[in-house]
Amino acid sequence: MKYFIQTYGCQMNYSDSERLTTVLKKLGYEECDHYSKADLIILNTCSVKQNADNKVYGLGEPFEKLKAENPKLRIGITGCAIRKCTGVRGECKEDIFRKMPTVDFVFRIKDLMQVPDILQKLHHVEGGDEIKDLLHYFNINPTIANISQVFIPIMSGCNNFCAYCIVPYARGREESRDMSEILDEVEKMAKRGAIEINLVGQNVNTYKPNDASPDSNETPFTQLLRRIDAVKGIERIRFYTVHPKDMTDDVINLYGELKSMVPHLHLPVQSGSDSELKRMNRFYTVERFKDLVTKMRKKIPHISISTDIIVGFCGETEEEFMESYNLIKDEKIDLVYVSKYSERPGTLAQKEQKDDIPEEIKKERFEKITEIMKSVSFEYNQQFVGKTVQVLVEKVYKGYASGKIPEFKMCRFKSDDQNLIGKVVNVKVDKAMEWCLEGDASI
Ligand code: SF4
Repeated sequence: MKYFIQTYGCQMNYSDSERLTTVLKKLGYEECDHYSKADLIILNTCSVKQNADNKVYGLGEPFEKLKAENPKLRIGITGCAIRKCTGVRGECKEDIFRKMPTVDFVFRIKDLMQVPDILQKLHHVEGGDEIKDLLHYFNINPTIANISQVFIPIMSGCNNFCAYCIVPYARGREESRDMSEILDEVEKMAKRGAIEINLVGQNVNTYKPNDASPDSNETPFTQLLRRIDAVKGIERIRFYTVHPKDMTDDVINLYGELKSMVPHLHLPVQSGSDSELKRMNRFYTVERFKDLVTKMRKKIPHISISTDIIVGFCGETEEEFMESYNLIKDEKIDLVYVSKYSERPGTLAQKEQKDDIPEEIKKERFEKITEIMKSVSFEYNQQFVGKTVQVLVEKVYKGYASGKIPEFKMCRFKSDDQNLIGKVVNVKVDKAMEWCLEGDASI
């Protein structure tokens, strides 16, 4: 039997899909490269960017048609769209069963250990007994596609209730993995060839494991970063996501001190207006965000700062929007993940505020933020022209090898050599565009 997993959303979801892959392989499923060949399709959803009614939860072809062509096909949904329960249709009440009549089962990601039982019912597959007994889904070894760049969850859930966000309802409250368990995973990955570690969690600065050093003056997250930096073979550490209210000076102080802290930070501001941040329930001011950017630039002047912006949030005035626009321009934020607000059932914003900004205005604001970001990014990228950058190769396609430099910019160079994937290559940049750099490799 063949499976196909479609993952949407953040790095946490991609990391979860790696653990899901392990479970499916233990049950004897084999991966296939297109959903039309699969007997099992699992959608790992994101309700932050999409809602369940969006066409995006299809795969370009109606599931009815795929099921008519392959009667064995079963469809499952996990991720942030699943909040209430885990089970097959008829056994548990999840709204998605009503909205999507072709879905056969759903599971909350924390119930991943129940997937073998579910698939035994649906496909009569055997195995996976050792998974059923695990206490937490983090204990399932991930199946890593690209060993040079590894995503490691350090915590799950969130204690913040940002007005627009479904995550605390979908994933529950924060739970941190023990530091010893994370370090063990990092060491194993480093031995297999990992170069870049991406630590993921909804709010990494409030990481609170049971085994942090009680005598340290530093936060547990800082302790963790120091210990990962000391692991042989690890050259780059990135982390997602940081909440501006919780970012601490001890983490900032590691920039420029630890060899593997990359000159890039993703610091999601969401809005450049204090009044809007208040309605979003974000609990910091724009000044706080600017202070953090200034502190980071004092440590590393050329650091790349990326952020998230939501446009068209409930009641967003033109003045509030322009504050976001000006923040990106004035603080020179060189990468913005911009999204148009849309309501998520069950969130504070849906219950207490009005999604009252017309779609065309949301679209206009989206485009304006994209335009200013492109101009800041273009300017930022010019600094690399004539310099040699280190590209960690992710892909070799149509005559070009490409990958990210430490500053999180994509860089490509001419090559057909598939063996370069996972290697760090020095590239002399001769061209800088809005979205990427280009140059010649010295191999
Ligand atoms: S910090 Fe806010 S936006 Fe991030 S996961 Fe938690 S509730 Fe959602």
